[in-house]
Amino acid sequence: MSKNENEKSWRLATQLVRGGTLRSGFGETSEAIFMTSGFRYDSAEAAEARFKNELPGFVYSRFGNPTVEMFEQRMTLLEGAEAARATASGMAAVNAALMCQLKAGDEVVCAQAVFGSIRYIMEELLPRFGVKAVLVDGTDLSAWERAVTPKTRIVFLETPANPTLEVIDLPAVAAIAHKHGARVVVDNVFATPVLQKPLQLGADIVVYSATKHIDGQGRCLGGVILGSQDFVTNELTPYLRHTGPALSPFNAWVMLKGLETLELRVARMTESAARIADALAGHPGLAAPTNVPALLYPGRSDHPQAALVRKQMAGGGNMIAFRPKGVKAGAFRLLNALKLVDISNNLGDSKSLITHPATTTHQRLSAEERARLGIGDDLVRLSVGLEDPQDLIDDLSHALEKAG
Ligand SMILES: *Cc1c(COP(=O)(O)O)cnc(C)c1O
Repeated sequence: MSKNENEKSWRLATQLVRGGTLRSGFGETSEAIFMTSGFRYDSAEAAEARFKNELPGFVYSRFGNPTVEMFEQRMTLLEGAEAARATASGMAAVNAALMCQLKAGDEVVCAQAVFGSIRYIMEELLPRFGVKAVLVDGTDLSAWERAVTPKTRIVFLETPANPTLEVIDLPAVAAIAHKHGARVVVDNVFATPVLQKPLQLGADIVVYSATKHIDGQGRCLGGVILGSQDFVTNELTPYLRHTGPALSPFNAWVMLKGLETLELRVARMTESAARIADALAGHPGLAAPTNVPALLYPGRSDHPQAALVRKQMAGGGNMIAFRPKGVKAGAFRLLNALKLVDISNNLGDSKSLITHPATTTHQRLSAEERARLGIGDDLVRLSVGLEDPQDLIDDLSHALEKAG
């Protein structure tokens, strides 16, 4: 196995293509898929030494695997973290990042607008183990101030949030958390590692669903957790090793290939999303604006937190939320009239995808709770892909006309 020692000093594009590559004796150019569950030892003594961590080397693919390690190392470089561990899905990453450091009696403070399954962990799972989760309006700094106490172990947030695209002031929330000795865990899926670096903004731990932009071509589930070497070695790794949400080497290889084009894809998607948002913003098929515009895109100057977006993100990303006329029926008419954009709850794919969160990703929440979060029956969430943006504008404007 050979490895490049200079990779930390490479620039982003080089790290994305070459970072973490471990070459076998065959000298392959592309990363190899080490599709093996176990590893053999030259002697009984060597096996003993490897288990005691006295000799370097792999032991079992639940603990580590060369292809998975290449993906972890490339993510570490991209994020500017000290260490990373990959998981079988984004939710496995969120769950492990929380469970590996929580115990009965702890408290978690979580932004209320997060991915639906994260709400399940906060509201259903953690209380069963004596961990109290307090949900707050993530955009309200005084709410964070009130909720975070010395009992708070973890502060969890997602920015921009799914599906409302509200943006949370990361340095400000991190300062509140750190004042009380809590750690900040950020789900950075919507921003992508290209457009936002939570660790530089005060976060302690970053999690991704690699299923989204990192694969970016709709093929594999995967996740990753990044943080300090101490956290990864002493808290996260034992948890993963003994509970087993390991990423398949094949999926890690797909993710490695995805990373090679991540920057190009995110840049192109962001460019297209900005164009589409501008083209649709004044469309007569949109509902009347309330206290927020009927179309929300973090890259537009009418986003309620446009100044904050400029401060902590390098671009608006590829996600757009908007409200067609006609409430739920209008939203359904819009979805059903689309000929190019697919109805699907996935995101970050090269194919543009649209979803109606109230009846899919967030249907578990009560109508009142959804209303509180701004997930109305009329809200649709668009993930802009890599098609020609003009074809997408044509498809969406035509469907918006049908919706109203
Ligand atoms: C998709 C998603 C997850 C969960 O990831 P999976 O890979 O589907 O398990 C978590 N957080 C956000 C923001 C997501 O979009």
